[in-house]
Amino acid sequence: MDKEKILKVLNETLALGRKDIPLGEVADYIPELGKADKNALGIALAGKSGNVYTAGDAESRFTIQSISKVISLCVALESRGYDAVFDRVGMEPSGEAFNSIVELDLVSGKPYNPMINSGALAIVDLLLGKYTFTELLEISRKLCRDDGIRLDERVYRSEMENCSRNRAICWLLKSKGIIENDVDEILKLYTAMCSLSVTACSLANLGLILANDGVDAISGERLLSSSTVRVVKTIMLTCGMYDGSGQFAVEVGLPTKSGIGGGLLSVVDKYLGIGIYGPSLDKKGNCIAGGAMLRRLSSEFGLHIFAP
Ligand code: GLU
Repeated sequence: MDKEKILKVLNETLALGRKDIPLGEVADYIPELGKADKNALGIALAGKSGNVYTAGDAESRFTIQSISKVISLCVALESRGYDAVFDRVGMEPSGEAFNSIVELDLVSGKPYNPMINSGALAIVDLLLGKYTFTELLEISRKLCRDDGIRLDERVYRSEMENCSRNRAICWLLKSKGIIENDVDEILKLYTAMCSLSVTACSLANLGLILANDGVDAISGERLLSSSTVRVVKTIMLTCGMYDGSGQFAVEVGLPTKSGIGGGLLSVVDKYLGIGIYGPSLDKKGNCIAGGAMLRRLSSEFGLHIFAP
């Protein structure tokens, strides 16, 4: 497809997504997030040639939130290994909300997977002491090909002042011996990772690395191992969209991770990374317009992982 055709498709897709914006709500349980412009919407597509195609607010900065769980999981798998990660966190969909606490005091008490808050907090515990926030920021910049990524101090402070639920999750994990470090230190690093300011373009670039087996398509440098990338994409497919993951996998069929700040990171395996920003969220906490846009792109271009 030539550039003009791609841009036409992206703009049509954006117009379709816009129709769903009024049906959603901006997350406001972190007060600073509630200030986002509900009508903002952008999409970016990163292809292996190095071209990034965009429409709408693809350069607007917003906080990565839960999509940082993908980065933390990649780093934990690379540095601590598969066994250390899955000794403490499962790999099953939870069927519960992202910040659920109920299941932690049942059965094994192990968080269901690394894409929900409890699992991500346990992963951050593995990273603490091994990586400083500055080092993780550098890794995030490299994986996203975006030196503009910074800590959004306002969102960070706002979340730190309103994180009783994540604090409760940490204490429960601590009581079960699943995490070892100081709860405050875990919360600070987890929240800082959630407060990285990215754009739809940064997410598309990260998606491309995952689509391209962990290799930076432009420089040729391998940034992540094949095995890490395989695990991460599988968990994104089964658990990346909170308790809407099953339906999303059926309807769209692309490994995707959402964040409560309105971001979506999506992978068209072997071909493309897709990044979306739209802070109006559906009831499950996923970008409502982004869901519609990905459904359209997947069906029109046969992108579903099991497309014939
Ligand atoms: N920082 C948010 C929290 O821990 C992330 C939630 C999300 O994006 O799912 O509540």
